[in-house]
Amino acid sequence: MTARTGRQYLEGLKDDRTVWLGNEKVNVLENPVFAGSLKGMAGYFDWQNAHADDCLVEDPETGKPMSASLIVPRSADDLQRRHRAFDRFARYSNGMLGRTPDYVNVTLAGFVGRSDIFTAKGDTVYADRLKCFYREVVEKDLSLTHTIIHPVVDKAMPDTEGVNGQLALKVVRRTKDSIIVRGAKILATLGPFADELFVYPGQPQPPNVDPATLLAFSIPMGTKGLITLCRDHYGVATSPGDQPFSSRFDEQDAFMIFDDVEIPLDRVFIDGDLDVYNGLMRHGWAANIMQQTCIRAAVKLEFAYELCARMAQATNSDRRPDTAALLGELWGYGCLTRSAIKAAEADARDWGNGAFFCSDEPLRALRAQMPGWMVRANEIIKAIGSHNLLATASIEAIDNPEIGPLINAFMPGANGMSARERAKLFRTAWDFAGSALGGRVELYERFYLASAPRNFALDHMFAQMSGQWTQFPELMAELGVV
Ligand SMILES: Cc1cc2nc3c(=O)[nH]c(=O)nc-3n(C[C@H](O)[C@H](O)[C@H](O)COP(=O)(O)OP(=O)(O)OC[C@H]3O[C@@H](n4cnc5c(N)ncnc54)[C@H](O)[C@@H]3O)c2cc1C
Repeated sequence: MTARTGRQYLEGLKDDRTVWLGNEKVNVLENPVFAGSLKGMAGYFDWQNAHADDCLVEDPETGKPMSASLIVPRSADDLQRRHRAFDRFARYSNGMLGRTPDYVNVTLAGFVGRSDIFTAKGDTVYADRLKCFYREVVEKDLSLTHTIIHPVVDKAMPDTEGVNGQLALKVVRRTKDSIIVRGAKILATLGPFADELFVYPGQPQPPNVDPATLLAFSIPMGTKGLITLCRDHYGVATSPGDQPFSSRFDEQDAFMIFDDVEIPLDRVFIDGDLDVYNGLMRHGWAANIMQQTCIRAAVKLEFAYELCARMAQATNSDRRPDTAALLGELWGYGCLTRSAIKAAEADARDWGNGAFFCSDEPLRALRAQMPGWMVRANEIIKAIGSHNLLATASIEAIDNPEIGPLINAFMPGANGMSARERAKLFRTAWDFAGSALGGRVELYERFYLASAPRNFALDHMFAQMSGQWTQFPELMAELGVV
């Protein structure tokens, strides 16, 4: 089975996973709270089949259709091919779903491309296991979530020392065929709705780190001892017409507790090796994954621009200088995002082992700016939308024979726009930027690839390491400053 349908995806969630929502252990498939989100995720799998020309490619090993996000990129053509898929996948939710399965697929395919990092010391066993796992993901079209961050509670301490060290996920026992791990990880977006949890390196670790914490592995979400602790759910049981995002696209984040979880060795990809742990993230991971994340961001910003432009038309304010300036600013973020992706693809190169990834510089610069732009996009929606974001009737109310005629009479848009068209626009905008889910998505944009300050600081470090910044004395001398 490859390139699953929504129905097949839902079938795959029938297992013994331990999922807590509030004070209750819940069956994900049966709990009505999750119904909309499951519909949304199933819709993603149907979408990839409905848009097979963009989303699917032929699996080179079996000839069957597979997600283009699983291409191990070896050429500029591969990057262009998957670009098309990322764009199409993102359009399913207009970029509001961050953790659609194509996200972690890209990382996995990139790690397979850089198998040389795993084999650098001559042992092929970990690379072979990773390749087997990759084949399983391709052939079963599994949906993966990931957790790569230690649950740091004391930010004055290193990630795996003191109280942080007590919480960090680590190997506590070994058997002939497995490791047993205990600890926690943050934060699994899609946790309750994924097939597998992929754990791999996050922040680089220092030489004196406890090697028991240096891990990469993947396990089914139903593995014994793995506990998925959900945040409050923000999905709502309304029609997509009233809340297009909250009704289907709460991808549900979860804190992951590993209460003595046994991981079979054939699913362990890093076990105590600091060089592989740190090397994997430094040599192409960002360049690879950020092609996907930046394309999603571009689709989302472009959607936000068009939404805002239409809201401004609905109040006949699009030519007012203050509103036009906001619209131009928002357009610029989308345009700069597309430009950085183009630049990164144009300068793509072999990062080693034939793995062909984008140039990382434009994408890293974008990654650090993007949280600010996403927050600003929401501010612009609120500035342009104003009270209209809340003074909207539901679509059902517009269809109600008693109140509908009054809504049509008293709540139209400007320039002859009907009450229904106006309501659709402003309701969508509020769901995007102001609803409970909208607030959560904003937080996601701020942190899902680490915070902006952390990324700015990293960018500065990489810039200094590049050795490019040596011209200053000469430039000063040319200015006559001696
Ligand atoms: C909704 C959501 C979904 C997520 N999904 C996932 C997931 O599926 N898988 C996963 O692994 N992770 C996920 N994450 C990311 C992860 O869990 C952490 O939230 C993320 O790594 C940042 O956490 P932090 O507290 O360490 O942030 P930090 O980077 O420490 O930032 C916290 C605060 O400190 C400030 N700060 C940090 N560094 C500096 C600095 N150098 N200079 C100045 N100020 C600084 C920042 O401004 C920020 O306000 C998700 C996060 C969110 C919010």
